[in-house]
Amino acid sequence: MGEVTGIEWTDRTFNPWIGCQEVGTDCDNCYARIMNNIWKWNGGTWGPHAPRKRTAESTWKNPLRWAKEAAETGKSLRVFCASLADVFDNQAPDGARDDLFDLIRKTPELDWQLLTKRPENISKMLPADWNDGYANVWLGVTAGNQEYYDRRWSILRGIPAKARFISYEPALGPLKIAGHWGHYPDWIICGGESGSKARYMEPQWAYDLRDECRRLDVAFFMKQMTKKAPIPDDLLVREFPERRRRLAD
Ligand code: SF4
Repeated sequence: MGEVTGIEWTDRTFNPWIGCQEVGTDCDNCYARIMNNIWKWNGGTWGPHAPRKRTAESTWKNPLRWAKEAAETGKSLRVFCASLADVFDNQAPDGARDDLFDLIRKTPELDWQLLTKRPENISKMLPADWNDGYANVWLGVTAGNQEYYDRRWSILRGIPAKARFISYEPALGPLKIAGHWGHYPDWIICGGESGSKARYMEPQWAYDLRDECRRLDVAFFMKQMTKKAPIPDDLLVREFPERRRRLAD
């Protein structure tokens, strides 16, 4: 459970608890489940009856330390929450999500990236003082194909947030973001699947989406090709949303 991450679009990962259950075909090769089978962080089970195990107090202290580091350097750090769970899981450990939002309020120096596959739960699980969104929180949903995008973005688009994003990873089919809702995410992360059972992402899907993002002025971040094959030079675009750039200035 490293804190400094190899995930290219963030700086740190924080897991308030570990454990989850699959909600769609984009969970088929869930990295967290595979790693949990090996390390047995929550006892080795996964799915509806698996425990969601709160992480150690020492883990919860990490973001406070990162915030201090960010304050000292004057450079904001991005924190991805959560890589081994889902923040808006309705089986989260008692009190853990409230504690998470407390922590987020205490660390304005960090840009928190909350990514979920359960957008239907977001509104009812946000804190009472959310209003137009905390200045240091980006909300994102995973959408690996058009069906998931239409379903999940149609919910996220109506929730106030300082930045809203789509993780198109694993990319399981072509995706167009225009023409459906007339309102676009601030940021798209694009990535093929990794691992021995990776499903293939046609490179053309990534090129087409990058071009569409350019047309719509949406930030595009090309994370990886299938099985981490080299990214072609003409696809290696790594932008962050404008709000992020303003926060970082
Ligand atoms: S939502 Fe994420 S963590 Fe949960 S099972 Fe699916 S891929 Fe794994």
